[in-house]
Amino acid sequence: LSVVNKIAAGEIIIQPANALKELLENSIDAKSTMIDIQVKDGGLKLLHITDNGKGIHKDDLHLLCERFATSKLSKFEDLESIATYGFRGEALASISHISRLSVVTKTATSPLAYKAFYSNGKLATSSFKAGSDKSVEPKPIAGKDGTQIIVENLFYNVPSRLKAFRSKNDEFAKILDVIGRYAVHAGGVGFSCKKFGESHQILSTRPQLNLKERIRVVFGTAVANELIDVILDGDEKDEDAEKSYKDEYGLIKVSGAVTNSNFNNKKRIQPVFFINHRLVSCDPLKRALSSIYQFFLPKGNQPFIYLSLEISPQNLDVNVHPTKREVRFLNEEEIIDIICVKVHKVLSNIDS
Ligand code: ADP
Ligand code: MG
Repeated sequence: LSVVNKIAAGEIIIQPANALKELLENSIDAKSTMIDIQVKDGGLKLLHITDNGKGIHKDDLHLLCERFATSKLSKFEDLESIATYGFRGEALASISHISRLSVVTKTATSPLAYKAFYSNGKLATSSFKAGSDKSVEPKPIAGKDGTQIIVENLFYNVPSRLKAFRSKNDEFAKILDVIGRYAVHAGGVGFSCKKFGESHQILSTRPQLNLKERIRVVFGTAVANELIDVILDGDEKDEDAEKSYKDEYGLIKVSGAVTNSNFNNKKRIQPVFFINHRLVSCDPLKRALSSIYQFFLPKGNQPFIYLSLEISPQNLDVNVHPTKREVRFLNEEEIIDIICVKVHKVLSNIDS
């Protein structure tokens, strides 16, 4: 069974950036306002995430890395998150099968922090050996409110995967890309990232920054200077159907910012799409938007696009694994049309 779990985990977490994405989402879900990330060897040696969120209750630590523990536990609040976002992860379980995972966490009401070690979904000793006695119990230690997730030696037991990584710098670049996208999206949350053992912050945002400032830090001044807001409320009426977008298509809200027709940039920046606060890629939406832009930007110029979609969770395709980046949803064509019409209006400046 452990082999099956390992294979399953290796299919969910393909590269360090996948693990990091899941960990950032957990920290954001835990209402953190600051998330600090340290990375060693492109994340293959170490991913260390420190947040100041609500922490994990000591009694929940023994089940933290069980698959689907989420839906079994009373103190977890993630049934709510399934209802809100439509996604259920098994990130920590997966990571515990293919790395050396340890967790330090403290809730506001607990006088002490606790440190726990995991191996193959279960609590382990400090040297990551399985056990069932006192040696695997979470250890009380001093610590601040919040959670540290320490992932060491990712893929240590998946040699084929490990061999496939050609460059630590490439993996680090993917990690930075994910952090940058969350730093743009997650208002009220500051992020910092550095390489382990170095003091230089490679990326750093403060929780107070507004959207434009966050985009400036991550994607540069040229992008930030040409931004226009895109906001679409699901209560707007569909003129033909005489129904709101929310009732008709489950489209609750779209918000974001895109560059205008003056944007003079040849470098391609992959569009930043979030659906229900999860970073996703959505190729049909990407293609539709680039066909709108061809009327506005000189040939060769590439827009910057950041859009955050809120869609009724029951309209998301649950057959797509929650950690897969490509997301499917009901009424996809209609929703993409609605968004494109809006972006077209915004770009033509005829929006009221
Ligand atoms: P999911 O996020 O889908 O529930 P995960 O394996 O990613 O699955 O996380 C399991 C649970 O562990 C979360 O639901 C949450 O209750 C808890 N958790 C994970 N990371 C954190 C964190 N940084 N702060 C507080 N709680 C966390
Ligand atoms: Mg999660």
